[in-house]
Amino acid sequence: MSSASVLIIGGGISGLSTAWWLAQQGIGVEIWEADDQPGGLIRTTREAGYTSERAAGLVVNFRKEVDQVILQTGLMRRKRLRDESLKRYLVHRGDLVEVPMLMPALLASPLWSLPAKLRLMAEILIPRGRRDDESVSTFIRRRLGREILDTAMDPFVSGTLASDPDLAEARSVLPRLKALERRYGSLILGMMINRVLKRRRANKADTFSFSGGMSALIEALAATPGVTLRCGMRVESVIRKGDCWQVKADQAGVQYQKWVPRLVLSTPADISADLLMQTDTVLGRLLAQIAYAPVAVLHIGLPSSGIKHPLDGTGFLVSRENGLAFNGNLWMSRLFPERTPTDRTLLTTYLGGVRHPQQVDLSDEQLATVVLSELKPLLGITASAEYVRVDRHRRGLPLYHGQYQARLEKIEHRLDSLPGLYLNGNYQHGVSVRERLYQGHRLAQKIAVKLNTGERLFSREPSFVLAR
Ligand SMILES: Cc1cc2nc3c(=O)[nH]c(=O)nc-3n(C[C@H](O)[C@H](O)[C@H](O)COP(=O)(O)OP(=O)(O)OC[C@H]3O[C@@H](n4cnc5c(N)ncnc54)[C@H](O)[C@@H]3O)c2cc1C
Repeated sequence: MSSASVLIIGGGISGLSTAWWLAQQGIGVEIWEADDQPGGLIRTTREAGYTSERAAGLVVNFRKEVDQVILQTGLMRRKRLRDESLKRYLVHRGDLVEVPMLMPALLASPLWSLPAKLRLMAEILIPRGRRDDESVSTFIRRRLGREILDTAMDPFVSGTLASDPDLAEARSVLPRLKALERRYGSLILGMMINRVLKRRRANKADTFSFSGGMSALIEALAATPGVTLRCGMRVESVIRKGDCWQVKADQAGVQYQKWVPRLVLSTPADISADLLMQTDTVLGRLLAQIAYAPVAVLHIGLPSSGIKHPLDGTGFLVSRENGLAFNGNLWMSRLFPERTPTDRTLLTTYLGGVRHPQQVDLSDEQLATVVLSELKPLLGITASAEYVRVDRHRRGLPLYHGQYQARLEKIEHRLDSLPGLYLNGNYQHGVSVRERLYQGHRLAQKIAVKLNTGERLFSREPSFVLAR
């Protein structure tokens, strides 16, 4: 293993994943993380017998690179799969209605009117769209009709991405659906052909977390041999000096600086913008314009005997037209029973997002009151909450709004003229843990290729010094 030749700023899953993949190539890495522990948004809390997640609570995977990380970090024995038989629900006219996963059930579902179902079947006849940069709403309305957009896609985009389907770019948030249209001219036809040809992913899809929660993944990545993690290091400036990068950081009032040939920024877009504004104003502005939605996560623990609903699913999403205060509710103890004592239930509710950003400012008590008053009739709750916890993220999720791919391409173009500088954060190519692990792999490959082809960036020895 070579001594650290890459410095990564930010020890969230994006930075940790890049470091892990670089280390697998024998490339030495150092991470500077501002917080006193790694993980960024991801953190598991264990309190009063309940295990809750501050942000990502599960991984929905179909990528072999993610399997490789789990296997090689020794996390296989801690992997906890979601029960595949669990249903998915949507709120429809004040009730929970199961989401059909296959075409016959979809046609029989009360979620959609007969005209909506006929419109859905006509999808196969709809010509390919001409615009690459259309919004989710335009794309889904055009292909599947208005009702499918309102009842199914709107809750998905609002509930899982905190975003707005009218503004989110379809190819950025639904890349696989857009690819089906491009390739086959129809989503339904594309899915059918893929099924018949068994051209579905060679890798089996699964949904999982870990015994002890998502922090297990963070701890495993942070302990990677060859990766030096320095916490409490808040980077304050990044300056290009000749053919290397000078990075200055503050750790508990002490100033540090380091010159490195290769630098990865795995910080949120606005922080990366501040750090790079002096080096490249155009790049700084492109990053600064990326907006984030605030999100609040409310965890409610209560005795299972006080809930009438069988909770035979993963939880439910809420469409805009249902007018509830929150975007989605996950039945965490059903997904992963280890997260509560056997006779207890943990319900995790996601609030805020583009739909209701102001809710993140409500007090814990107000949030619990509002949510419980809406959950009670839906789930038949008679018990009182015995555990309440709120996690707030002012900078929750980046919004892939507007002509987002074009923005990312412009960012890549600016980076071409800044050798040795790389970006990897959840504002690029997917917010999920799966995509973060995968993008870490892609970036590490790119850096390794440059190193192996003998790219010379560095005329000075890498150094790490106390500035004063
Ligand atoms: C409520 C919520 C629920 C979610 N649920 C899921 C889910 O179930 N499944 C899923 O796959 N995904 C989920 N996600 C998405 C996923 O959790 C995030 O996209 C991902 O964790 C972001 O990782 P990141 O490393 O890109 O950013 P971050 O986690 O934000 O990491 C950035 C890091 O940079 C550090 N930093 C910032 N400034 C500096 C500085 N100046 N110097 C040094 N370090 C600095 C920060 O301290 C932080 O550690 C969820 C997100 C939210 C908000």
